Amino acid sequence: MFIELTDHLRCPENHDEAFLVLLPDQVEGRSVRTGTLGCPICDRRFELQDGVLDTGGAPTAEPEGGGPTALPAESLSALVGLGGPGGYLVLVGRPAAAWREVAALTPGIGLVAVNPPSSVQDESGISVIRSARLPLKSSSMRGVVLGPGYGGADDWVREAARVVLPGLRVVGEGQDPELEVIELMASAEGVWVGTRAR
Ligand SMILES: [Zn+2]
Repeated sequence: MFIELTDHLRCPENHDEAFLVLLPDQVEGRSVRTGTLGCPICDRRFELQDGVLDTGGAPTAEPEGGGPTALPAESLSALVGLGGPGGYLVLVGRPAAAWREVAALTPGIGLVAVNPPSSVQDESGISVIRSARLPLKSSSMRGVVLGPGYGGADDWVREAARVVLPGLRVVGEGQDPELEVIELMASAEGVWVGTRAR
Protein backbone atom coordinates (compact mmCIF):
# COMPACT_ATOMS: atom_id res chain seq x y z
CA MET A 1 0.00 0.00 0.00
CA PHE A 2 1.37 3.32 -1.15
CA ILE A 3 1.72 5.33 2.06
CA GLU A 4 0.11 8.45 0.62
CA LEU A 5 -2.97 6.50 -0.44
CA THR A 6 -3.79 5.92 3.22
CA ASP A 7 -4.91 9.59 3.36
CA HIS A 8 -7.75 8.68 0.98
CA LEU A 9 -9.03 5.58 2.76
CA ARG A 10 -12.28 5.44 4.70
CA CYS A 11 -13.83 2.91 7.02
CA PRO A 12 -16.17 0.58 5.08
CA GLU A 13 -18.87 0.81 7.76
CA ASN A 14 -21.97 2.86 6.99
CA HIS A 15 -21.25 5.68 9.41
CA ASP A 16 -20.15 9.20 8.53
CA GLU A 17 -17.05 9.18 6.41
CA ALA A 18 -13.90 9.31 8.50
CA PHE A 19 -10.21 8.93 7.85
CA LEU A 20 -8.42 5.80 9.04
CA VAL A 21 -5.46 6.19 11.36
CA LEU A 22 -2.38 4.35 10.16
CA LEU A 23 -0.01 2.68 12.62
CA PRO A 24 2.71 1.39 10.31
CA ASP A 25 4.81 -1.60 11.33
CA GLN A 26 7.01 -2.21 8.36
CA VAL A 27 7.56 0.39 5.64
CA GLU A 28 9.73 -0.10 2.55
CA GLY A 29 10.38 3.14 0.70
CA ARG A 30 6.93 4.68 0.30
CA SER A 31 5.11 1.37 0.64
CA VAL A 32 3.54 0.16 3.88
CA ARG A 33 4.01 -3.62 4.08
CA THR A 34 2.45 -4.36 7.47
CA GLY A 35 0.58 -2.22 9.92
CA THR A 36 -2.83 -1.40 11.31
CA LEU A 37 -5.47 1.04 10.13
CA GLY A 38 -7.96 2.07 12.79
CA CYS A 39 -11.32 3.84 12.53
CA PRO A 40 -11.76 6.59 15.14
CA ILE A 41 -15.57 6.39 14.87
CA CYS A 42 -16.41 2.69 15.22
CA ASP A 43 -13.03 1.47 16.48
CA ARG A 44 -12.71 -1.22 13.83
CA ARG A 45 -9.13 -2.13 13.00
CA PHE A 46 -7.80 -3.45 9.73
CA GLU A 47 -4.48 -5.22 9.35
CA LEU A 48 -2.24 -4.58 6.39
CA GLN A 49 -0.62 -7.87 5.34
CA ASP A 50 1.98 -7.98 2.56
CA GLY A 51 0.84 -4.47 1.76
CA VAL A 52 -2.77 -5.54 1.15
CA LEU A 53 -5.71 -3.92 2.94
CA ASP A 54 -8.49 -6.48 3.36
CA THR A 55 -11.61 -5.03 4.99
CA GLY A 56 -13.50 -8.31 4.63
CA GLY A 57 -16.43 -9.37 2.50
CA ALA A 58 -14.67 -9.21 -0.87
CA PRO A 59 -16.40 -11.36 -3.49
CA THR A 60 -14.48 -14.66 -3.71
CA ALA A 61 -15.26 -14.87 -7.42
CA GLU A 62 -16.24 -12.29 -10.00
CA PRO A 63 -19.76 -11.00 -9.30
CA GLU A 64 -22.57 -12.25 -11.52
CA GLY A 65 -21.99 -11.38 -15.16
CA GLY A 66 -18.23 -11.53 -14.72
CA GLY A 67 -15.94 -12.90 -17.39
CA PRO A 68 -12.77 -12.01 -19.19
CA THR A 69 -12.13 -8.29 -19.52
CA ALA A 70 -12.71 -6.82 -22.95
CA LEU A 71 -10.56 -3.82 -22.10
CA PRO A 72 -6.91 -3.96 -23.06
CA ALA A 73 -4.77 -1.41 -21.25
CA GLU A 74 -4.73 0.97 -24.25
CA SER A 75 -8.54 1.12 -24.49
CA LEU A 76 -8.94 1.37 -20.75
CA SER A 77 -6.50 4.27 -20.52
CA ALA A 78 -8.09 6.05 -23.50
CA LEU A 79 -11.63 5.67 -22.12
CA VAL A 80 -10.75 6.88 -18.65
CA GLY A 81 -9.18 9.88 -20.36
CA LEU A 82 -6.64 11.09 -17.80
CA GLY A 83 -4.36 13.84 -19.00
CA GLY A 84 -1.39 14.66 -16.82
CA PRO A 85 0.09 13.16 -13.70
CA GLY A 86 -1.17 13.14 -10.12
CA GLY A 87 -3.88 11.40 -8.14
CA TYR A 88 -5.16 7.85 -8.37
CA LEU A 89 -6.91 5.54 -10.81
CA VAL A 90 -8.89 2.61 -9.37
CA LEU A 91 -9.07 -0.71 -11.23
CA VAL A 92 -11.77 -3.04 -9.90
CA GLY A 93 -11.65 -6.77 -10.75
CA ARG A 94 -10.02 -8.26 -13.84
CA PRO A 95 -8.73 -5.09 -15.55
CA ALA A 96 -6.23 -4.75 -12.68
CA ALA A 97 -4.26 -7.69 -14.14
CA ALA A 98 -2.94 -5.26 -16.78
CA TRP A 99 -1.77 -2.67 -14.26
CA ARG A 100 1.82 -2.59 -15.52
CA GLU A 101 0.68 -1.63 -19.02
CA VAL A 102 -1.79 0.88 -17.57
CA ALA A 103 1.01 2.38 -15.47
CA ALA A 104 3.18 2.83 -18.56
CA LEU A 105 0.28 4.63 -20.30
CA THR A 106 -0.63 6.85 -17.34
CA PRO A 107 2.69 8.06 -15.93
CA GLY A 108 2.60 9.78 -12.57
CA ILE A 109 -0.82 8.42 -11.62
CA GLY A 110 -1.09 6.08 -8.62
CA LEU A 111 -2.88 2.79 -9.31
CA VAL A 112 -5.24 1.09 -6.88
CA ALA A 113 -6.39 -2.51 -7.53
CA VAL A 114 -9.62 -3.52 -5.79
CA ASN A 115 -10.39 -7.25 -5.72
CA PRO A 116 -7.88 -8.00 -8.50
CA PRO A 117 -7.11 -11.51 -9.78
CA SER A 118 -4.88 -13.42 -7.35
CA SER A 119 -1.93 -12.98 -9.73
CA VAL A 120 -1.78 -9.30 -8.71
CA GLN A 121 0.40 -8.75 -5.64
CA ASP A 122 0.79 -5.49 -3.77
CA GLU A 123 4.12 -3.93 -4.72
CA SER A 124 5.67 -0.63 -5.63
CA GLY A 125 3.38 0.81 -8.33
CA ILE A 126 0.15 -0.91 -7.27
CA SER A 127 -1.84 -0.76 -4.02
CA VAL A 128 -4.10 -3.76 -3.48
CA ILE A 129 -7.39 -3.60 -1.56
CA ARG A 130 -9.88 -6.42 -0.96
CA SER A 131 -13.32 -5.29 0.14
CA ALA A 132 -17.08 -5.54 -0.28
CA ARG A 133 -17.13 -1.89 -1.37
CA LEU A 134 -14.67 0.90 -2.19
CA PRO A 135 -13.16 1.88 1.19
CA LEU A 136 -12.09 5.22 -0.32
CA LYS A 137 -13.20 8.73 0.47
CA SER A 138 -15.84 10.45 -1.65
CA SER A 139 -14.57 12.61 -4.52
CA SER A 140 -10.99 11.42 -4.03
CA MET A 141 -10.08 9.45 -7.20
CA ARG A 142 -9.30 10.58 -10.75
CA GLY A 143 -10.96 7.60 -12.38
CA VAL A 144 -12.55 4.23 -11.69
CA VAL A 145 -12.66 1.21 -14.00
CA LEU A 146 -15.23 -1.47 -13.08
CA GLY A 147 -14.40 -4.82 -14.66
CA PRO A 148 -16.81 -7.56 -15.72
CA GLY A 149 -19.38 -8.31 -13.01
CA TYR A 150 -18.71 -5.00 -11.25
CA GLY A 151 -19.66 -2.65 -14.11
CA GLY A 152 -23.17 -4.10 -14.20
CA ALA A 153 -23.70 -4.20 -10.42
CA ASP A 154 -25.63 -1.20 -9.06
CA ASP A 155 -23.86 -1.22 -5.67
CA TRP A 156 -20.42 -1.04 -7.26
CA VAL A 157 -21.51 1.60 -9.77
CA ARG A 158 -22.81 3.74 -6.90
CA GLU A 159 -19.52 3.35 -5.09
CA ALA A 160 -17.55 4.33 -8.19
CA ALA A 161 -19.74 7.42 -8.67
CA ARG A 162 -19.18 8.35 -5.05
CA VAL A 163 -15.37 8.15 -5.06
CA VAL A 164 -14.64 9.71 -8.46
CA LEU A 165 -13.85 13.41 -8.61
CA PRO A 166 -16.57 15.58 -10.16
CA GLY A 167 -16.30 15.69 -13.95
CA LEU A 168 -13.91 12.73 -14.14
CA ARG A 169 -14.84 9.30 -15.44
CA VAL A 170 -16.11 5.91 -14.48
CA VAL A 171 -15.66 3.16 -17.08
CA GLY A 172 -17.73 0.01 -16.65
CA GLU A 173 -17.94 -3.38 -18.30
CA GLY A 174 -21.53 -4.57 -18.18
CA GLN A 175 -24.99 -3.31 -18.95
CA ASP A 176 -25.48 0.46 -19.03
CA PRO A 177 -26.30 1.74 -15.54
CA GLU A 178 -29.74 3.23 -15.12
CA LEU A 179 -28.92 5.07 -11.95
CA GLU A 180 -29.47 8.69 -11.00
CA VAL A 181 -25.84 8.90 -9.80
CA ILE A 182 -24.33 8.33 -13.25
CA GLU A 183 -24.53 10.55 -16.30
CA LEU A 184 -23.77 8.28 -19.24
CA MET A 185 -21.37 9.73 -21.84
CA ALA A 186 -20.97 6.80 -24.20
CA SER A 187 -21.63 3.10 -24.49
CA ALA A 188 -20.65 0.42 -27.00
CA GLU A 189 -20.20 -3.34 -27.01
CA GLY A 190 -20.76 -3.85 -23.31
CA VAL A 191 -18.52 -1.00 -22.15
CA TRP A 192 -19.89 2.30 -20.86
CA VAL A 193 -18.32 5.57 -19.81
CA GLY A 194 -19.92 8.08 -17.50
CA THR A 195 -19.39 10.77 -14.91
CA ARG A 196 -21.05 11.39 -11.62
CA ALA A 197 -24.36 13.13 -12.21
CA ARG A 198 -24.45 16.68 -10.89
ZN1 LIG B 1 -15.62 2.84 11.27
